[in-house]
Order: sequence, then C-alpha cells, then structure tokens
Amino acid sequence: MTSRYAAWNFPSSLPDAPAPVLIDGDWSAASTGESFPTYDPGTGEVIAEVSLAGAVDADRAVAAARRAHDEQRWMRLPSAQRGAILWRVADAMKQQADDLAVWESRNMGIPVPQARTMVLEAANQFQYYAGWADKIHGHTIDLGPAERRIQGYTLREPVGVVAMIVPWNAPVISASKKLAPALAAGCSCVLKPADETPLTALWLGQILRDAGVPPGVVNIITGPGETVGAALAEHPDVDLVAFTGSTDVGRSIIRAATGNLKKLQLELGGKSPVIVLPDADLSSAIPGVAGAVFWNTGQVCAAGTRLFVHESVHDEVVAGVAAEGRRLRVGYGADPGVDLGPLISRKQLERVTAYVDGGRADGAQIVSGGSRIGDNGYFFEPTVITGVDQTMPVMREEIFGPVLGVMPFSDVDEAIALANDTSYGLASSVWTADGAVGHSIARRLRAGRVGINVHRAGGAYMPAGGYRQSGWGRENGEEGLASYLEVKSVVSTLA
Ligand code: NAD
Repeated sequence: MTSRYAAWNFPSSLPDAPAPVLIDGDWSAASTGESFPTYDPGTGEVIAEVSLAGAVDADRAVAAARRAHDEQRWMRLPSAQRGAILWRVADAMKQQADDLAVWESRNMGIPVPQARTMVLEAANQFQYYAGWADKIHGHTIDLGPAERRIQGYTLREPVGVVAMIVPWNAPVISASKKLAPALAAGCSCVLKPADETPLTALWLGQILRDAGVPPGVVNIITGPGETVGAALAEHPDVDLVAFTGSTDVGRSIIRAATGNLKKLQLELGGKSPVIVLPDADLSSAIPGVAGAVFWNTGQVCAAGTRLFVHESVHDEVVAGVAAEGRRLRVGYGADPGVDLGPLISRKQLERVTAYVDGGRADGAQIVSGGSRIGDNGYFFEPTVITGVDQTMPVMREEIFGPVLGVMPFSDVDEAIALANDTSYGLASSVWTADGAVGHSIARRLRAGRVGINVHRAGGAYMPAGGYRQSGWGRENGEEGLASYLEVKSVVSTLA
C-alpha cells in the first residue's frame, strides 16, 4: 500500500539514507556500516533505513558526552543562556509541529492531529524546564548554637553523563521528558530511541543542534535495546540511566547498572485501576473511562485498564463504554476523522490478541471488540471484557493495547482493595460526585498518580512516576529536575 501522508522529508541538513547517528555534534553512519528498517505500522511497509549502532557507537557517544561534560561545554554557558537555548528548542518544535506530527504519526501510527498534540506537549517540556535553568540553587543551613563557628550550605550540581533509553508509544514526548530536565540541570546525554520509532528523535537532534546546544552535549544513537541499549546501561562512564519502558527490561537495566552503581530513574509499566462510584456523573465518567483505556490504542503506560464499577451502575457503564469503543474510528493515522491508529507492530498485535484469547479461554465474556481489524497494518478493535477476576492474566499483566477488564464491587473498601491488588502502581482514577470521598480514596490508592473525575492530566507540571514495580523516581515538575542533580554539602569554619 502506498503512503497517504502528504509530507515526508528529513530536514535537508540531515542525510537520509540511511538516517545517521548524532555523535559529538556530527551526523555520521554507525560504525557497523549497517542499517535496519523502520516501518509504518498502518501498512507494514518500510519507510526508512536507520543506522544500526553497535557497542562501538555506544562507546563513542558516551565518550563524547563525557568530554562535553568534563570540558563544561554546556555548564560554562550562563544559566540564563542555557534556558534561552531550551526555549528556542521549544519554539522550533512548535514551528515544525506539523511536519514532526507527520513523522510521529507515520512511524508509530497515532492519528496526525493527536501526534501534533504530542509534539506540542513535548515542546512544553522544553519551555517548562527552560524556566528552571537559572533557578537551580541550594540552601544555607543553620548548624545551631553548638556549632556556632561552622556554616553549611548546599550546591546542586548536574549528575554527569546520562544515558536515556525510551519506548515507542510516545517517542517525542518520552525523549523530551528526559532531555529537557537533564539539560536544564546541566547534564550531557546519550539518547537511544526505541528501535521501532527512531525518526522523531533524530529530528529533535537536529533542532537541538540548530538551537545552539554544544557538540557532544546531546548524542543520539539508534539500534536494538539488547545490544546498544544494554551497552549504555552497563557502560562504566555513564552516571545515570533514565529509562522508560517495560518492567522486565527495567529489571535488566538494574542488573546492568550494578558495575559502577549507576543512579537510575525508571518509568515502567502499569495496570492502572479506574473506580466508578454509584454517584458519579455517568455522562462524563463513561467517555472518561473509554478515553482512559483506548487513547493511543491503549499503548499508554498510565492507561486505565482495570475498571471497578459499583454494582448499581455496572451494566449501564459497561454498555456505555462498549458503545464508546464501537463509536471510535480505528484507521490509518493520516486519514481524516480517525480516532485510533494501529498497534505498533505485528509482535504487539500478536501479544494483544493472545491476552484477549486467553481471557476468552479463562471464561471471560467479550462485550465488544476482541478482534483484529482487516489484514493490512496492525489494527485492533477497542475491547471491553467482563466476567474477569483478579487472578486472570488479562487483569494482572500489562497488555499495552485497547483492552479493558471490568469487575463490579459493592462497597468502597472492596473497590480500593481490588484497585490496590496489583504489582504495579503508576496511575489511577476515581469518578464520584462527592469531592471529599474522592480525596479520601486518593489517599488510599497505592499509585503515583490519582485522578478525580479525570484520568490523565498534568503534562510537564505534575510529577509522574510509579509506586511498587512501576518505577523509581519521578519525571516532570521540580521532582523531575531533581533526578538529574546531585546535592553537595559544603561546611566551613567562620572567623
Ligand atoms: P521495552 O521495555 O521493550 O523497551 C523500551 C526501551 O528499552 C527501548 O528503547 C528498547 O530498545 C530498550 N531495551 C530493550 N531491551 C533492553 C535491554 N536489555 N537493555 C537496555 N535497553 C533495552 O518497552 P516498549 O515495548 O518499547 O514500551 C512499552 C513499555 O513501556 C510498557 O511497559 C509501558 O508501560 C512502558 N512505558 C512506561 C512509561 C512510564 O512513564 N512509566 C511511559 C511509556 C511507556
């Protein structure tokens, strides 16, 4: 099938056959001399060849970042100037949002208008952290009368060289959520985008270069996680690995980081609960629940995939969410009016299909959806499943597709127990007309984020991260910046 995307060109300054890696400010072929294909998941067709980086390139990129850091190429710039450069990055992303959205859409399938929203959200990461660049400071500390002749203060310093490894489900946002705070903090970086979606990360590299980020401060290498990602995770010259991805790969990053006891920031998987109380306004709860699970074809770490509904409104909510799922138009990301694009790959399609078939075999009922759409591209119907329980894989494991499992409950304590019965703890939401009840439940849910009458909101401003096996540390907000800073205590005698 031929592409229906209108614009499809790399920036003219960026060679495109194969797409190169960015090391020490230069675009070049990877040292392997090889490339790998990247696909349009709406058709399965190859859309570009991308340089296949290997361990040698990981070494080169880390060495470039280390040199840039040690020579203070970034930190010697006045902090206000660094902030201005990050602001320029945000402006350029906004100016190029239409083209970037086309790239994002074509490489990961999301409809173009939603891809554009993602690009603007990513730009806002740079704008938000641009404001932080000249506001990073420590404290003076009163050491008390017993130590009257000593004063103490703290300095906040960049952690050093950061390896960033990100997934395919929101490529430009995932990269920006790490690059923007790391650069505001003064770090040097090596970014490895997901092998499925390398293209917008490369475009972002060009924007960073054009905005004035010095050579070596941001390096971008493309290739498989098992080789080049693992090489970064175990590299002795990397100080911090900032990883977003699955909990299983997160575990292997932890093991790889033990050599030099790297610091880790881990944004991992989720199986987030949504609770609908009997007093909820169903006219907003039903579309809210559908959006929480189906947006981006369910390929969202914080997706609300386990729904617990009070028994008095269970049937109405199930019917309403199923109807919302049927109403959503699943299709090719470039086509107008499409709500949901394809899953990212054949592998992901097989994974989602296997979970739904497993649910069927375990005795669950498929209320709506449950099947692949067509045989071209990797499209899957928004799916609602009832008759499930918390022992079934479909309710315990992260599927990363448009699949919702629903269970009724009879009182709030039972709903909270069901919601907390998971190894994850990334996000959650509760739908109720009673604000006080909503806030009380928020305190009892074991998750890094709770929405009351909304599932997802906050962007760059609100800390996001996981309890339990959903991760270590936080992204966004002041907490996100802190991940990239060391605190140094200085004490000195006074005359
Ligand atoms: P993944 O874990 O398979 O891959 C993520 C990244 O890790 C990719 O760049 C991949 O190439 C790399 N990688 C794979 N094996 C590696 C290894 N052994 N060493 C180093 N790097 C390796 O995840 P995915 O399938 O790309 O993305 C989906 C997952 O990401 C889901 O579990 C989802 O919940 C999670 N996610 C979490 C958040 C969050 O903020 N918590 C956000 C988005 C996605």
